[in-house]
Amino acid sequence: MKHCITLIEGDGIGPEVTDAVVRLLDRSGLEIDWDRENAGTATAKRSGQPLPKRVLDSIIRNHVALKGPIETPIGTGFASVNVEIRRSLNLYANLRPVCNLPGIKTPFTNVDLIVVRENTEDLYSGLEHEVVAGVVESLKIITAKASTRIAQFAFSYAQSNSRNRVTAVHKANIMKLGDGLFLESVRSVGRKFKNIDYDEQIVDAACMHLVMNPSKFDVLLLPNLYGDIVSDLCAGLVGGLGLVPSANLGDDLAAFEAVHGTAPDIAGMQRANPTALLLSALLMLHHLNENAIAAHILTALNTVLRSGKVRTPDLGGTATTGEFIDAISQEMELKAPR
Ligand code: ATP
Repeated sequence: MKHCITLIEGDGIGPEVTDAVVRLLDRSGLEIDWDRENAGTATAKRSGQPLPKRVLDSIIRNHVALKGPIETPIGTGFASVNVEIRRSLNLYANLRPVCNLPGIKTPFTNVDLIVVRENTEDLYSGLEHEVVAGVVESLKIITAKASTRIAQFAFSYAQSNSRNRVTAVHKANIMKLGDGLFLESVRSVGRKFKNIDYDEQIVDAACMHLVMNPSKFDVLLLPNLYGDIVSDLCAGLVGGLGLVPSANLGDDLAAFEAVHGTAPDIAGMQRANPTALLLSALLMLHHLNENAIAAHILTALNTVLRSGKVRTPDLGGTATTGEFIDAISQEMELKAPR
């Protein structure tokens, strides 16, 4: 079956990693029509808009997007395009599987957890204003509707993926109303899933436990901001931001992207590790029911990582982004089903 997929290359290392991953997918036997759109800094300079409507229309038309990171100016400038895409398309669930990869040495060998992050509200609502000079109010929005919806997603995911426990992460000792409502909503969903264990941890304690004994965790369920921070921490547990994928899921639309940002420090140098975006593309292939090709690519990726001969600089190697992808491609050809 031929798939039509929106492709957004993004900023910084985005064009390098998307180009590499698209090259691999195009050689994999999949039939894909890439509907190429762009957003972000370069688009804003060209058209005056960082997120033209046609980009959103393309995702609505195709239902699926593969997306590179888009730069968000710090402190000033346009609002985050990454956040705007998730919010305007109601991609309310951000799923980030974090597990050890073969051949990547880290302090822990038993990390296998799923971060589920609420994607549409919290401090990401972008509601800020200056009350008087020198005083700014940033509004944290928590609703029962969005909290219940993300809890339903997390417990259903746990159930259908043989996961045993959901841990809600919060700071309801301080934000008694906001995080309190989040917890209350999660608990009432959790009660319906009798076969899934449920517990709660305060976000600071959760961070400590994660870096001491990550294998204790299974599915982590977090409001937006804690989800952003904790998933970078989790990426560190398995070798860094170049390795962790994510899916932004709504009821019938989905956008797949790496957890990392634009990495301006290495942009344009062919030093970026494309693994995170490649693993995101594999989540996309499972979403499209292309399970056999996804498994074939994963086997080749794992073989290359395990051998350790071809590695990008973040993993201590000297290979370029393209050389790493070519090694995976060659491995796929060697092991192609005949
Ligand atoms: P942004 O503002 O877009 O989030 P950032 O630099 O603040 O950019 P990241 O892009 O997530 O945040 O990068 C954080 C660090 O991780 C940087 O040093 C970057 O080089 C490194 N990094 C991120 N992604 C990759 C990757 N795919 N391969 C190698 N290193 C990466």
